[in-house]
Amino acid sequence: MKNTADQNLMRRMNNKTVIDLLRKEAPLSRANLSTLTGLNRSTVSSIIDDLINEGWVTETTYQSDKVGRPGLLLEINPSGGFAIGVEIGVDFILAICVDFSAKITWHKRIETDPDEGKTEILGKAFKLTAEAIEAGKTNYSRPLGIGIAIPGLVDVHEGVLKNAPNLHWYDVPLRLIWTQQFNIPVYVENEANAAALGEFHYGAARGINNLIYIAAGYGLGSGIIIDGNLLRGNKGYAAEVGHMTCDPDGEMCNCGKRGCYETLIGPRAVVKRVKKIIADEGGDSTFLHTTKNGQAVFGYDAVVDAAKHADQVALTALENVGKSLGVVVSNLVNVFNPKMVILGGALNYAKDYIQPVVKEVVKANALELCQQDLEITNSQLDPYSSVMGTISMILEKNFSDLEWLRKFNY
Ligand SMILES: [Zn+2]
Repeated sequence: MKNTADQNLMRRMNNKTVIDLLRKEAPLSRANLSTLTGLNRSTVSSIIDDLINEGWVTETTYQSDKVGRPGLLLEINPSGGFAIGVEIGVDFILAICVDFSAKITWHKRIETDPDEGKTEILGKAFKLTAEAIEAGKTNYSRPLGIGIAIPGLVDVHEGVLKNAPNLHWYDVPLRLIWTQQFNIPVYVENEANAAALGEFHYGAARGINNLIYIAAGYGLGSGIIIDGNLLRGNKGYAAEVGHMTCDPDGEMCNCGKRGCYETLIGPRAVVKRVKKIIADEGGDSTFLHTTKNGQAVFGYDAVVDAAKHADQVALTALENVGKSLGVVVSNLVNVFNPKMVILGGALNYAKDYIQPVVKEVVKANALELCQQDLEITNSQLDPYSSVMGTISMILEKNFSDLEWLRKFNY
């Protein structure tokens, strides 16, 4: 005869099976759930009754297609609760509020400048978080969590940002200070890891268990999901693709080391490359000009615009940067054998020029077997990949745990 502990464990496992299915496959009927789980109707009904009573799941009427009798379908209740995602970028802050079905119901982005300093930027991020919570409370009763994405090395267990080279922030206990401020569970993750999770749960890589997300923005970040799990490494600092060494004697990187790929790939690298082509290689551009001492009087957007007008200098610079990115992707394809590589971030604005080059380099350089069935594609959630990833850390991770949800029954 089973003891109580066994029965509790069994009950929790059944809850999880039923809830997981609803999250992924809803709308479903009770009969569907019984068939799919192999659990008997009364067990399914008892779990479902709890979920409906507690407001997590809702029942809607539909017309049965076979016999014309109205039936009942179960769905995630969007107003079951809300979650907040915040991305603190190098030069912006983005906040969103999503309902319990992970639909964005509110969003706001503001520009910042890394020179403003940490206190000022954190103050702005607090303000945006508070606005997002207010927006959520207007419609829904239960705040379930706040996810924070940040470009740097994060200790996810402690919720501490250890080192953000491009912000020059070190050892910032983000979870602690956000929890003190808002008294809601807080999750912190590296922005590229978060983006990989976002695309995996809600974007381009739904149903794909082996994927690599690479974003070239101010830095070059990456998140790697293998066999359905985010690759974290020993201390959680894995997948720092941007700081892989290309040339040990190369240019100084913001991380303090030399010759990282980040110095060769991204919008800043594109501008640098254009300057070099004009100054050192005699390139002549109709659209892009430098001052006498070699300073650029254009930014990355202007280079992309010039490329659209078939400007040769702009096209060459983008091609060069695309080649470096192609080398990084080829190496990653050989090491991880992904099914999908997702290219996101600001470099994606030039995807028409960059992506074909990346594909060519990968085709030429990655092992044939490693690139079999490989798809190289765009981010689908951009610019919300990272914030949606932090949302998945709140909703997907915890949704199948009824005990966790019950903590919010207030
Ligand atoms: Zn570096």
